[in-house]
Amino acid sequence: MDKQPNILLIYTGGTIGMVKNPNTGALKAFNFDNLLKRIPELKLISCNISTVSFDEPIDSSNMNPSYWVHIAEIIEEHYDAYDGFVVLHGSDTMSYTASALSFMLENLAKPVILTGSQLPIGDLRTDAKENLITSIQMASLQKRNRPVIREVGLYFEYKLYRGNRTTKINAEHFEAFESLNYPHLAESGVHLNVNYEDLFKPNARKKLVVHKQFDNNIALIKLFPGISKAVLDCMVHNPKLKGIILETYGAGNATTEDWFVDVIKTALKNDIQVINVTQCSGGSVNMGSYETSSQLKSLGVISGKDITTEAAVTKLMYMLGEKVSSKTFKTIFETSLRGEMT
Ligand code: ASP
Repeated sequence: MDKQPNILLIYTGGTIGMVKNPNTGALKAFNFDNLLKRIPELKLISCNISTVSFDEPIDSSNMNPSYWVHIAEIIEEHYDAYDGFVVLHGSDTMSYTASALSFMLENLAKPVILTGSQLPIGDLRTDAKENLITSIQMASLQKRNRPVIREVGLYFEYKLYRGNRTTKINAEHFEAFESLNYPHLAESGVHLNVNYEDLFKPNARKKLVVHKQFDNNIALIKLFPGISKAVLDCMVHNPKLKGIILETYGAGNATTEDWFVDVIKTALKNDIQVINVTQCSGGSVNMGSYETSSQLKSLGVISGKDITTEAAVTKLMYMLGEKVSSKTFKTIFETSLRGEMT
């Protein structure tokens, strides 16, 4: 018989790991050492589960690059001993962490599945148990002694998505995530149905490389009618600024007013990378398809194509951290590194 896969559960915080104090009703962190006692169903999964917790579990609104590095280092340290990793994480910034991990873990050939929940694990109607159990099952899937999922995924409410394609779209519904520009990787129903064709296929001969440098001197600017020249001027003249994610309208369109074009010109002249992503939840930037995006194209603005804002933010911080040269920056950003763009 094949050996059972070893799965490492990494608890970072968030609602999923909370239980209600029956006397006071207050939520407190769940002790993961007692996980199997609290969720006996886990014994039915054919795998060996070990757990590690952040010393101080965090609400994911407090997530930042140093925590991303901490998660990546836990994975790196245990990479050879485990067949898959499940990261329990608050849902609020889960798509950012999933995207960041995808860039950090180059040549990843094992599953890293992030999950969380809208209701605490101790709650009567909780979605936490299903999300946790099925994430572990997805991470345990093997074919010819090799993990089926070999990328960073995000599992929520019956669907496994490519992590760097997701966005949190609802603060209340159990179906809290969406991946509008890429099909889901697997679905849980009566059977676990894997969409094999759309899985990421890493080069299995290459060794895992963990990148740990992020440069967060970037700005995310969402355009809106009436956006102020004075405020944008202030931003692009900040000497620390190295990159801007410009959330534009529709297929990558922006105002053609002279002052705005000048602001972008100044930024580019100062060696600031400018990335055009759409503020629509689905679809792609296509600079040049309207007059209102042609000016951005001719200035040399980078196209984010159909990337999510979460993946664009983390990819920009990652590439700046890696000190990618100005000459190649545009070409590399416009290339899909981990399946984050089409
Ligand atoms: N605020 C929580 C967090 O992101 C919400 C959740 O866990 O879903 O940590």
